[in-house]
Amino acid sequence: MKAVVKTEPGYGHVEYMDIPEPEPGPGMVKIQVKATGICGTDLHIYRDEFPSVPPVILGHEFSGEVVALGPGVTHIRVGDRVMSELPVAPCGRCRYCKTGHLNLCIDRRGLGWSANGSFAEYMLAEEQTLHLVPDSLDYEQAALCEPLAVASYGVIELTGVRAGDTVYVAGPGPIGLMVSQAAKAEGATVVIGGVAADLSRLALAKELGVDLTVNIEDEDVDRMLRDLTGGLGADVVFECSGAEPAAALCLDVVRKGGRYTQMGLFGRPVRLNVDRLVVKELRVQGVFSSNWRAWDRALRLVRQGRVRLSPLISHRLPLSAWREAFELLWQRKGLKVLLIPGA
Ligand SMILES: [Zn+2]
Ligand SMILES: [Zn+2]
Repeated sequence: MKAVVKTEPGYGHVEYMDIPEPEPGPGMVKIQVKATGICGTDLHIYRDEFPSVPPVILGHEFSGEVVALGPGVTHIRVGDRVMSELPVAPCGRCRYCKTGHLNLCIDRRGLGWSANGSFAEYMLAEEQTLHLVPDSLDYEQAALCEPLAVASYGVIELTGVRAGDTVYVAGPGPIGLMVSQAAKAEGATVVIGGVAADLSRLALAKELGVDLTVNIEDEDVDRMLRDLTGGLGADVVFECSGAEPAAALCLDVVRKGGRYTQMGLFGRPVRLNVDRLVVKELRVQGVFSSNWRAWDRALRLVRQGRVRLSPLISHRLPLSAWREAFELLWQRKGLKVLLIPGA
């Protein structure tokens, strides 16, 4: 089969190549990948800014059809339409596994960085981490449920956005737009900020129901948020761009006693004025992957029509065009770019 493989450590070393089809071991299912999205993390892995364990097939946002079952699989059938959480072979014994945080397992391997992922015609996943695709979703929308689960985990589970909150979201990429929709679903007022290159993404944010959009190169977002909050500033900020100036702006516009949640990866150490955390008494939250509860809630939001996924899909390309797809994202021409194996 064809697959996009990180062949060795370091910058680049990603190739489209022929490799044997995988066979499912105990508890595993074999999935024919129907659609798979490119995540910022994949770009970071290409640039060696996020750890990976080569040789490994990249990709972790996907949907597909089950084509074979390993021994001991009991609840999934051939022909099921599925998506998956990312943990592979979580130990089941550590503090994190015991408390339902498989994303933090001390022995964790993850699809697309330390276990073979979805940029391939076929892949394996654990029965226990699969979710069935709701009937109302096609395979392309379903491929966006993993990042939506991350947004739902960050907004609802970890940060606890509530009705009445004023939320500022930095970065109108796919995660920023999903975070915004999840915060709207929770009843918050949402302002999303981007730069001049993001104008079409900001227009889409408006269409998706975000209250206010702002080009931070032109407009005074601090003033805008203070006007909305009786002079205080945002109750909650979500940094979704992984850009140092955006993170600095988030620290500026969040109110005293507010919450700062980091969703984006910077890919390197950054300089931030940590004293702002002290004098503003901020609560800081990181978000790594997601968990079963966040998936469950994300899928309910989609079924209820409170989050829209299709408008986020900007491009569909065959798997062989992976390099062109990565380029689109580096040049900020794409929003969610899907690779379609077998197309
Ligand atoms: Zn991702
Ligand atoms: Zn564990």
